[in-house]
Amino acid sequence: MKAIRVHEFGGPEVMKLEDVPDLQPGPGQVVVRIHAAGVNPVESYVRTGTYAMKPTLPYTPGTDGGGVVMAVGPGVKRVKAGDRVYTTLPNSGTYAEQVLSNEAQVHRLPDNVSFEQGAAMGVPYGTAYRGLFQRAEAQPAETVLVHGASGGVGSAAAQLARAAGMTVIGTAGSERGLELVKKEGAHHVLNHASDGYLDELMTLTDGRGVDVILEMLANRNLAKDLTVLAKKGRVAVIGSRGAIEIDPRNAMGREADIRGVTLMNTSEQEYKAMHAALVAGLENGTLRPVIGQRIPLAEAPRAHVEIMKPSGAHGKIVLVP
Ligand code: NAP
Repeated sequence: MKAIRVHEFGGPEVMKLEDVPDLQPGPGQVVVRIHAAGVNPVESYVRTGTYAMKPTLPYTPGTDGGGVVMAVGPGVKRVKAGDRVYTTLPNSGTYAEQVLSNEAQVHRLPDNVSFEQGAAMGVPYGTAYRGLFQRAEAQPAETVLVHGASGGVGSAAAQLARAAGMTVIGTAGSERGLELVKKEGAHHVLNHASDGYLDELMTLTDGRGVDVILEMLANRNLAKDLTVLAKKGRVAVIGSRGAIEIDPRNAMGREADIRGVTLMNTSEQEYKAMHAALVAGLENGTLRPVIGQRIPLAEAPRAHVEIMKPSGAHGKIVLVP
């Protein structure tokens, strides 16, 4: 089969399409024929070799994929050959024609959902779900700011929050992004590239502020976020690409919380709950992953350039073998 291989850490160009042996499932394992692989920012951080997670070289990148079960190992009960599935955090990389997963990492893909949409599920929807429900503990009737709602995680969060009965305010940095955010469930949209846009939050919330912020770029926004929170408000830090100075007093009076989010910290029980809820959302149509760009697998380097562009996100980038 064909797979992207990384033999040395570095820029996007270190990813090369190569021939590698077909995969065989061991006990409790599943081999999935990949029809689409999700591209997440973390895969570009890992590729540089400077991120906390450093795989042994050579390796195949990729944490999310949608496809069809090719073969199952002894003891596998939840899926069988021919089933449509999405897989996340598998044992091998998804930038490939095949991937090896443990049975628990494979989830049924309803017939109304494409393989490309399946590839957009694991990390983006898992992170949005963890941030919103498991970390920020957002409740129906609360107001949520999805700070960066036009990308993979943010568009998922807007859909999840809307379906759960929250008032959703979403931001984007381009006109196209703002349209997407509105379409995917935000009651109000704000442009994070315009001056003073967060001041409008106070008007939108009658001076109260928001209960929850899901933050995609904390190094830029955290200080200001603390000033637009309601009492007992929570900021869930999902993305950050550097340091920032904050005024702790803005958290004191409000008794506000800053809560970190790391998908990899999800417990087995939380993971089960997360994917049960996500599959149900796909079935009932409240979750509709938005695919912004389809890029051939051989052009994985271009996908890593696109995912790190500072603005203009429009849903998910997927690689197609
Ligand atoms: P993505 O698809 O590239 O989206 C990036 C988002 O950030 C877009 O909505 C973009 O909006 C927005 N953004 C850009 N400038 C912003 C600003 N000044 N203020 C607020 N938002 C801004 O990436 P993603 O997959 O959604 O991931 C988002 C972040 O979460 C990344 O940093 C990623 O590494 C991180 N992440 C963390 C975890 C975890 O476990 N903690 C898991 C997954 C992802 P425009 O393009 O419209 O400007």
